[in-house]
Amino acid sequence: MKIRTVGIVGAGQMGGGIAHVAALAGFDVVLTDIDAEILDQGMASVAANLDRQIRRGTVDAAERDRILGHIQTSTHLKDHARAELVIESAVERLDIKAEIFRQLDDNCPESTILASNTSSISITKLGTASRRPDRVVGMHFMNPAPLMRLVEVVRGLDTSPETIEVVKHVARTMDKTPVECADLPGFVSNRLLMPMINEAIVAVAENIATPQAVDEVMTLGMNHPMGPLALADLIGLDNCLSVMRTLHGELGDPKYRPCPLLVRMVDAGRLGRKSGRGFFTYPEA
Ligand code: NAD
Repeated sequence: MKIRTVGIVGAGQMGGGIAHVAALAGFDVVLTDIDAEILDQGMASVAANLDRQIRRGTVDAAERDRILGHIQTSTHLKDHARAELVIESAVERLDIKAEIFRQLDDNCPESTILASNTSSISITKLGTASRRPDRVVGMHFMNPAPLMRLVEVVRGLDTSPETIEVVKHVARTMDKTPVECADLPGFVSNRLLMPMINEAIVAVAENIATPQAVDEVMTLGMNHPMGPLALADLIGLDNCLSVMRTLHGELGDPKYRPCPLLVRMVDAGRLGRKSGRGFFTYPEA
């Protein structure tokens, strides 16, 4: 199956990045969001990232204009009808994602592949919200999508081998490395990463060390490029909490219990970079 047009639902942090990567790879892109202002911000951040690439010499000005010209924005899900692949990247809530899959299923041709960039929600569950579970798959990009090489390709219980092959090919065309895994909570990436982040938050809550000190131990001592708390702020503490709740709820093991400090920080609206404050502060947000 030839993919020419890629639809992306949700123009937030990840959706904007995926739109950038898809347009750079030569796909026509339809980017939608419920919020027109977020669509404008998403396009502005794609343009700013392309300007950075021009300064680094990896893209020229003509290419920048071509890439931006390949992204059409809209607030209507029905505009995804012309895409052969739609990648949903809306907020990490099952009810919202399931409704999006229902509507995409109603609006898109039967052959369209519906992918989700979810961090932890079951691909099999999203498949049952549609009438095409064989063409529903996980395409889990890492943050920031333009820089990170991995796409976790998640196989729902009914995802067909053909669907897996098509999205792996798309990921490679985007200059990413697809790694396949089964639809179990957190897949591979978040099954390993989130408990580490949660434990770093426990270390702060128990006054073992300050956030700076926890991150220094992991960057200087373990050679991690970024400390777990700076990474949590980048991912969004609301996203981290959603993933921990999924791991805890679905696996039932107390080792996945979200740290109460994480819950309180989300209650307080300290979501990390996107809100200007998480474990660290971000005056530019
Ligand atoms: P975000 O909050 O930055 O963006 C979410 C966007 O979804 C918002 O722009 C919102 O307006 C939009 N939205 C909400 N309801 C919608 C609807 N019904 N239809 C269309 N758009 C809708 O969140 P994000 O960090 O970009 O995360 C998006 C998805 O990507 C989540 O599933 C998340 O788990 C996943 N993800 C996030 C990261 C990360 O590091 N942030 C990494 C990998 C995957």
